[in-house]
Amino acid sequence: MNSNTAFRALRNIGVIAHVDAGKTTTTERILFYTGENHRIGEVHDGATTMDFDPQERARGITIHSAATTVHWQGTQINLIDTPGHIDFNIEVKRSLRVLDGAVVVFDGVAGVEPQTETNWRLADDYRVPRIAFVNKLDRTGADFGRVVATMRERLGARAVPVQWPIGMEGDFRGVVDLLTMQAMVWDRDDASASPRVADIPAELLDAARDARARLVEAIVERDDALLDAWLRGEQPSVDALRAGLRAATLASDLVPVLAGSAFRNRGVEPLLDAVVAYLPAPGEVPGAALTDGPLSALAFKLTADDHGAMVFIRIYSGTLKRGDTVWNASTGKSERVSRLYEIHADRRVERNQLVAGDIAGVVGLKDVLTGHTLASAKDAPVLESIAVPEAVIDVALEASRQDTTAALAKGLAVLVREDPSLRLRQDPESGQTLLSGMGELQLEVAVEKLRSRFGVDVAVGRPQVAYRETITAPAEVRHVHRKQSGGPGQFAELTLRVAPLPRGSGLRFESSVVGGAIPREFIPAVE
Ligand code: GDP
Repeated sequence: MNSNTAFRALRNIGVIAHVDAGKTTTTERILFYTGENHRIGEVHDGATTMDFDPQERARGITIHSAATTVHWQGTQINLIDTPGHIDFNIEVKRSLRVLDGAVVVFDGVAGVEPQTETNWRLADDYRVPRIAFVNKLDRTGADFGRVVATMRERLGARAVPVQWPIGMEGDFRGVVDLLTMQAMVWDRDDASASPRVADIPAELLDAARDARARLVEAIVERDDALLDAWLRGEQPSVDALRAGLRAATLASDLVPVLAGSAFRNRGVEPLLDAVVAYLPAPGEVPGAALTDGPLSALAFKLTADDHGAMVFIRIYSGTLKRGDTVWNASTGKSERVSRLYEIHADRRVERNQLVAGDIAGVVGLKDVLTGHTLASAKDAPVLESIAVPEAVIDVALEASRQDTTAALAKGLAVLVREDPSLRLRQDPESGQTLLSGMGELQLEVAVEKLRSRFGVDVAVGRPQVAYRETITAPAEVRHVHRKQSGGPGQFAELTLRVAPLPRGSGLRFESSVVGGAIPREFIPAVE
């Protein structure tokens, strides 16, 4: 495939949101409307199908990026799930690498939240075209206009509504499509009820016309041909406007904003239409063209269990067939791919072959880790690898029962393989097994997985020596805690042991970090 051929009817997209904005509910509805899931799984009854992991069900938050395939009106959509919690930032980055576009879900009451902001900036960095879905408009306090305004102010987004909500809070019942100026009204809450095309309510006409004028202006300003015609007084056709909006969205120049309530089943079908209409096919975004030639693929997610691993990959060029031997550019080893799978909400569909743009799960690769590049030959391009940030927090782990020590080691080995932002080490002095990660929740989840997947109850403690530094220069307080936040002298908690070393070699400090400032008497005099 190259840029001269027609783009595939394929969208690789992520759903991005701050925790609780409704990402899981929206995803569930997408699975339902695309016919993948015939039972709407509510988050609160712990039965959603997107979150395979029992722990994710219990918590009601989505932690892992699983790729799920659905179809909408002749287009295949691969949903790459992105975690909302800050601790899983690395996973968000990983998924941003492989997706072509994103739906960003906002809470209609809370608007722009901290994690939306973080993820938005990441998506800016990766130049991911986005559409916004302002969800929960049925909630008391919901305000569509205010959310759009904060998107502009706080995110610097050129956000343009393509819909206008009909009613608000308890009375939210539909949307006006600002391109066609048709109203869609949902008379009932249940998911199987289709929207009814209706007249725009008289009291909304002025607001909808104003919003349409702003939308048309934003599109026309970014398209020379449309602008010329418009300046001559011609009204652009709906199709021309849609094409202009698509181009501006792909260029990350505009962000179309839609309105809805996933929970009340309002606005999700038009959201799917918008995914097809405005988000790119693989290779369609300038600078991300797919190429012919040898295979290159990136492993972006790994799920491992006792039976082996499924590696989720994205193909950038070439073809991968089941049974092929691939060369891992990151390890220099060759390995055989035994099977290729497309993952649907509740089943796997085996594929014989994958081509550029595809995302799928691969079974049979033993030495592939997240971030590795797979190629068909040694001269194939090496894709930029995914950087793993430094771990920021660690805990000491111990099996609660002696007879599960081996199972703990095995479980930890699997978890660390699955998630490169988790690190495992043994403290040379205390002998403690230490697990480090990006945040408390990530470590909590790891401990929970040790219990649920590997049957190991672990006692979690503080590392005995949480911070250690050898100082050979004259000791001053700022040297002791330069890695800590909170300014000179500030620790979360401190115990300091000072071990004098032979004269002339300075002092050795050992501390465990937990609160407050360093007490004066702990600051040792230099010998
Ligand atoms: P996530 O953390 O972003 O995946 O959010 P969830 O989908 O788990 O939703 C968080 C909570 O908000 C759940 O209790 C949902 O039932 C609720 N919720 C989601 N969408 C809506 C909506 O459109 N309206 C209302 N009122 N509640 C919603």
